[in-house]
Amino acid sequence: MIKIENVSKSFGSHDVLHDISTEIGKGDVVAIIGPSGSGKSTLLRCINLLEVPTKGKIMIDGRDITDPKADVMSIRQKIGMVFQHFHLFPHMSVLDNLTYAPVKVKGISKEAAEAKAKELLARVGLSDKAASFPSKLSGGQKQRVAIARSLAMEPEIMLFDEPTSALDPEMVKEVLDVMKGLADTGMTMAIVTHEMNFAREVADRICFLDGGRLVEDAPPSQFFTNPQSQRAKQFLEKML
Ligand code: ADP
Ligand code: MG
Repeated sequence: MIKIENVSKSFGSHDVLHDISTEIGKGDVVAIIGPSGSGKSTLLRCINLLEVPTKGKIMIDGRDITDPKADVMSIRQKIGMVFQHFHLFPHMSVLDNLTYAPVKVKGISKEAAEAKAKELLARVGLSDKAASFPSKLSGGQKQRVAIARSLAMEPEIMLFDEPTSALDPEMVKEVLDVMKGLADTGMTMAIVTHEMNFAREVADRICFLDGGRLVEDAPPSQFFTNPQSQRAKQFLEKML
């Protein structure tokens, strides 16, 4: 589904990603972990072209999205992204947050969009919040709305950049549970996270980045019990 080939990214003279190659198969869940500043967000953002790689190629479903002629809008429609800080539309109700893009961008009727939105709110456990405004929600509720809003566009891939890092500890589980449910439906997912237990339990593979390099790319059973690199060992000692 996603093929990353020799991707490097620099900001001016600052080399942030060095020659990254990996693949994410359809229905796979990959956790991207590593220290702060190691390039996790940049790598994730390259997958939906919020950043353009300086070198290398990214293929999505067999299409080269790094080709300058690629249709960025149609690629982005296939890929949902959830951020640490929710990014909900503050002046819209929860329901309108979910229906806005499907109606505007996809041209779906308002009725159909609302029916779908209600189904998604039920799925994230927020049926009773359709008429609420984001400012009235807890962090965990906001993040569940953000996930439902992404799903309303019917993406084939979901990207998560530290979706629980801004949450109070008691709200982390409700968001991780929604993500776990999504993984169970067979969604292809790439998740930047510091939640090691979640990564171990839900991910098919762990990509460990350090200093912009993909230092390890292994199943959790291997990564957590027998990391190959000194850097990953040191990182895990601090995290676990
Ligand atoms: P992580 O998500 O692992 O913390 P990032 O991908 O956000 O790391 O950042 C990796 C490095 O790239 C950092 O040194 C950061 O300062 C730098 N960086 C990220 N985005 C930009 C940008 N838009 N312009 C310049 N430098 C950036
Ligand atoms: Mg980051």
